[in-house]
Amino acid sequence: MSGPRRRRVTVLGLGAMGRALASALLAAGHPTTVWNRTPGRSAALAEAGAEVAGSVAEAVAAGELLVVCLLDDDVTRRVLDRAAPVLAGRTVVNLTNGTPERARRLAEWLTERGARHVGGGIMAVPSMIGQPGSLVLYSGARDAFLDWRDTLAAFGEARWLGTDPGRAAVHDLALLAAMYGMFGGFLHATAMIRAAGVPAGEFAPMVTGWLTAMLGALPAMAAAVDSDTHDADGSSLRMQAASFGNLLAACRDLGVDAGLVRPVRDLLDEAVARGHGEEGLSVLVGLLHTGGTHRPAPG
Ligand code: NDP
Repeated sequence: MSGPRRRRVTVLGLGAMGRALASALLAAGHPTTVWNRTPGRSAALAEAGAEVAGSVAEAVAAGELLVVCLLDDDVTRRVLDRAAPVLAGRTVVNLTNGTPERARRLAEWLTERGARHVGGGIMAVPSMIGQPGSLVLYSGARDAFLDWRDTLAAFGEARWLGTDPGRAAVHDLALLAAMYGMFGGFLHATAMIRAAGVPAGEFAPMVTGWLTAMLGALPAMAAAVDSDTHDADGSSLRMQAASFGNLLAACRDLGVDAGLVRPVRDLLDEAVARGHGEEGLSVLVGLLHTGGTHRPAPG
């Protein structure tokens, strides 16, 4: 007895991530068509059962769901432009990394052409796709997301963030900011430790343990930001600004560029100068706002 007919999915873009997404769809049994600008990236996918389209328009016409995973917003728009006449009736799930504002503009453009838009943010590397721990964020057209949620589950946990088309993108970019802050800190720390003659591998367990311990502070810091009450909890900004001076002095002595960490010292100094010396780190969040476009986020 055959099961229900599975609707065809098209994947546009077969870079490292697009190939992982297409593989996951095929592994989950979804009929899949693929397209890539440069031919020759689809051999393994074709072997696994993918149809390889010869043009963007052909690929878009083949799938009811379009999963887009290209380099950036500009490329995405240029590629979709070439298939504009056949977009009507399709759901476009754009997993390309991009800005919230560009996601909103793409959603409008697609809606004008009779297509539904769901913006996404992939919080995984290609080897994690379809594996436990893979998380993909989505926002935009709720009915389209619900319609395709079971299919999207092939990539990993599918987490819905609301109807603002840019909401997945802002979460994606904020999480990347947190990740780069951590990696930046690790890279700087490792440069210091190597300059002191210690192998990075010897230091790694120590820095991992320290960062893991510090992670426990984040929920309380978030609560402090939301309630705008910034207790120092034993670690005042005045004290931290003083130790940061030592950190920069040691970098000078070790011959290590302090460019990755100096902005944090500058922010600490500014906070102390503004009278926040006896408060905690969470107060710095308010100093970072510069008054750019900020949209309320519908659910
Ligand atoms: P790759 O660089 O491996 O692939 C880029 C893709 O974009 C290829 O399909 C490439 O086609 C296509 N492309 C680039 N320029 C053009 C163009 N001018 N016209 C048409 N197609 C073009 O990147 P990834 O696959 O790794 O990443 C894709 C997206 O996924 C990015 O937005 C990235 O930020 C996001 N992402 C990636 C992660 C990762 O760890 N890899 C993690 C999370 C998100 P061609 O083969 O012809 O060059």
